[in-house]
Amino acid sequence: MHNIEEFIRQPRIAYFSMEIGIKSDIPTYSGGLGVLAGDTIRSAADLELPVVGVTILTKKGYFRQEIDEEGNQIELPDEWDPSEYMTLLPQRISVFIEEREVLVGAWLYVVESITGGRVPILFLDTDFEENHEQDRGITHFLYGGDPEYRLKQEIVLGIGGVRMLDRVGFEIKKYHMNEGHSSFLTLELLKRYKRDIEEVWDEKLVWDADRVRSLCVFTTHTPVEAGHDRFSYDLVKKVLCDIVPIEVLKEFAGEDMLNMTLLALNLSDYVNGVAKMHREVSKNMFPGYEIHAITNGIHTYTWTHPQFRALFDRYLPGWANEPEIFVRVGKIPDEEIWATHMAAKKELIDFINETLQAGFSYEMLTIGFARRATAYKRADLLFSDIQRLLSIGEGKLQLVYAGKAHPKDTPGKELIKRIHQIARDLKGRINIVYLKNYNMDLALKIIAGVDIWLNTPQKPYEASGTSGMKAAQNGVINFSVLDGWWIEGHIEGYTGWSIGGEPGEPSDPQKEAEDLYRKLEQIIIPLYYENREKWIKIMKNSIGMIAYYFNSHRMMRRYVTEAYIR
Ligand SMILES: *Cc1c(COP(=O)(O)O)cnc(C)c1O
Repeated sequence: MHNIEEFIRQPRIAYFSMEIGIKSDIPTYSGGLGVLAGDTIRSAADLELPVVGVTILTKKGYFRQEIDEEGNQIELPDEWDPSEYMTLLPQRISVFIEEREVLVGAWLYVVESITGGRVPILFLDTDFEENHEQDRGITHFLYGGDPEYRLKQEIVLGIGGVRMLDRVGFEIKKYHMNEGHSSFLTLELLKRYKRDIEEVWDEKLVWDADRVRSLCVFTTHTPVEAGHDRFSYDLVKKVLCDIVPIEVLKEFAGEDMLNMTLLALNLSDYVNGVAKMHREVSKNMFPGYEIHAITNGIHTYTWTHPQFRALFDRYLPGWANEPEIFVRVGKIPDEEIWATHMAAKKELIDFINETLQAGFSYEMLTIGFARRATAYKRADLLFSDIQRLLSIGEGKLQLVYAGKAHPKDTPGKELIKRIHQIARDLKGRINIVYLKNYNMDLALKIIAGVDIWLNTPQKPYEASGTSGMKAAQNGVINFSVLDGWWIEGHIEGYTGWSIGGEPGEPSDPQKEAEDLYRKLEQIIIPLYYENREKWIKIMKNSIGMIAYYFNSHRMMRRYVTEAYIR
């Protein structure tokens, strides 16, 4: 059991995120955003940075995914017991929701690094007997319910989070909002630093927005207008009480709707997108704001398969806490890179054959595609022309899919069904499996165990993407549309392959599918079967050039020097 005292002695950066992915057994994340938050905190611990994480508990998780024979997704609550991993702190604060006082507690989880660094995370919880029945459920489901439920969660996260940090005794130097879900924290700070002026001739003067800005850092992750969290002011008036007058709120968060991104933009001194292209896209979406770019990274150790960890330990000691050491990947003999890859591949293929009797082969070129099942990720782009795919890949390809669709994302669920349908149709000609319940453990197993990592997002929807970085970390080659981070990591034929047109050019599905088939047929399949030496060269470039750079240690050092210490 951990004691909070040791963490409050030194001022800290508060890192707020609606989801934080600690590990598969703690289902408080849904996808890339949460895993990135977890990687951020893991790197902070390795680098011994004074950070404290703040999130909500989601005691029933996101959901556990089952899939029936037809490919219909079935969502089950993913209940878990926080007391197995965390300590409930004695402190309670309250927030007002619909004019009821809602009691909020916090569970302490401590991320511990082998370097000795430790980062505490507060998981906010409203499930207490003293609370009204409906308020007890506010922290049950991640991204569950309707806009009203979401608004309540965001009040607990933003306003409750700042109050809890204060109550526990933290001194906070900066508040970092990882996406707009937590931007209500700015309102609590506005209220806290309200000027005490006796006679105000201008009501606005009591709000010290500059002071709040000097404390806030905002990272946006959403490259499209419709993706930003918005609430109607009717709903806001009903639910959000006791904070700042509605006119003040409208000044910072928008006239017509409360836009959480706008609120964070207007009350942060430092704002960044999560890749260079995403910065450009964000600047066009929000003209007039200064927006920087800090490209995402992954936590090197977490996303390295145990077989590769052992290999790197032998040839590149110190790699886990100093990923720059991958610049010397050339020291590792080709045969050992290949043997290690084949060990990771065998593990995945054995798992597939044991769980699904799919008849997968160790030798066959294996393509992986796993991430949230949602329309813009276009999991079915590879199936644009099935006859063409068969003529190129029959007997030469096998495919591994996985991913959850949000319970309300009907098109995402249709994608899962469609892939199941195609898998049935092509069985024996091109074997395809869809593995259920995608989570962090399954992610590492799939990503490290395939030969090619495919990504076909519709541009410019992929703000960054991180799973391709995890692939490169394990010597798996990226084959992807030029969007998000890949624009920065891609050198054609050297670190992997692109699909479709230039960065920034809007997606043309037909052209992209054509390019995908052409490169598979003319470049990738021949290279895999006929030129192993060159293939391994690209695997090593993935490690030496991509893993070297796209890690969360580099990312955190940049947040420290560019955003936190200014
Ligand atoms: C890394 C990761 C993601 C992000 O994948 P993208 O392809 O970048 O969207 C999503 N879910 C899990 C479980 C992950 O580990």
